[in-house]
Amino acid sequence: MSEGTNTVVRDVTIVGSGVAGLSAAVYAARADLEPLVLEGPEPGGQLTLTTDVENYLGFPEGVGGMELIQRGKEQAERFGADFRHGTVEDAALEDRPFELELADGDVVRTRALIVATGASARWVGADGEDELMGYGVSTCATCDGAFHRGDDVLVIGGGDSAMEEALFLAKFADSVTVVHRRDELRASDIMAERARDHERISFRWNAELLEIHGSREEGVTGATLVSHPDGHPTEKLDASAAPRAANGIVEETVDVGGIFYGVGHVPNTEFLEGTGVELADSGHLETLEGMTTETAIEGVFGAGDVMDPDYRQAVTSAGTGSMAALDAEAWLESQSVRSGSRALVGPTAQS
Ligand SMILES: Cc1cc2nc3c(=O)[nH]c(=O)nc-3n(C[C@H](O)[C@H](O)[C@H](O)COP(=O)(O)OP(=O)(O)OC[C@H]3O[C@@H](n4cnc5c(N)ncnc54)[C@H](O)[C@@H]3O)c2cc1C
Repeated sequence: MSEGTNTVVRDVTIVGSGVAGLSAAVYAARADLEPLVLEGPEPGGQLTLTTDVENYLGFPEGVGGMELIQRGKEQAERFGADFRHGTVEDAALEDRPFELELADGDVVRTRALIVATGASARWVGADGEDELMGYGVSTCATCDGAFHRGDDVLVIGGGDSAMEEALFLAKFADSVTVVHRRDELRASDIMAERARDHERISFRWNAELLEIHGSREEGVTGATLVSHPDGHPTEKLDASAAPRAANGIVEETVDVGGIFYGVGHVPNTEFLEGTGVELADSGHLETLEGMTTETAIEGVFGAGDVMDPDYRQAVTSAGTGSMAALDAEAWLESQSVRSGSRALVGPTAQS
């Protein structure tokens, strides 16, 4: 056992405190499993980045992202979930109980593990995005598109995600401009064709987003774009101190009411590399076929955006979170039946 190892063996440890982790925590806690929830680098997860959530069931007037998360945490704590600051850096899953090494050096030991670490949307790095993310800048058209009825909006990116965002936004926005740093799309032919054929979608080739204008009160009001005939304009900007015009870089300000990033997501699965848990090429956690959250390692379950490259919604994450807790409970039960003793499970059991 490594130094810093806690002798307590948990029944269930949930890695991540976004909607999926919280939903898993409510279910596991209500099953008397006293789950430990490791909150990770972003307590509350992605929903804490947004203002209004209008599509979560049960809130006809909408609900603030932060409020939804806070309520979920209170609900889980009420049934006995134990929250702790902590980011998992490494996992040893070949022996039992599993061991999770945290960034502060502590080691958590657990019989069942629910991975609910989400997937971080890639940001572009434009000036103003930190302040305006959730206030007119978004990484999710399905979530925030309806707030932009009648607006002119930008979509940043040139792959399938960007085309999906653009096509969805075209239902609400007056105009959708796809800003892409090259002069051809990376998207599949079918998606590219659909976007190209849409009357409200146009393209700005060889262009990039440099700065976002607006405020948290007003939302997004405009953007500065740069373009260069050979593409990748910001690289050329960074590489030379010469005046922009001398470099062939054209700068322009456009009036827009929303900006959507469609440049992909990175699932937070680094700590699972080499553990035996299967990861897709995209980095997403692979679960077994069928309606289950089980993974290639018995006792390890996945929930939320980390195992879902397609839907990426709060309500679907809550759904798979509850599934993971139920799957973990059933698995723990099967283990105690196999060993003939319930004494094996219990959060305060010593190694
Ligand atoms: C701006 C924005 C607006 C959105 N609006 C909506 C909306 O209106 N409606 C909707 O349905 N969806 C919306 N979404 C999508 C929704 O937020 C996600 O689908 C949902 O949050 C996914 O939940 P999750 O628990 O799987 O992951 P996340 O919310 O990403 O949470 C992941 C958790 O894992 C933790 N973590 C990560 N790595 C580690 C580690 N190594 N160790 C420990 N913990 C770790 C993080 O700290 C975090 O707590 C929005 C997303 C964004 C970004």
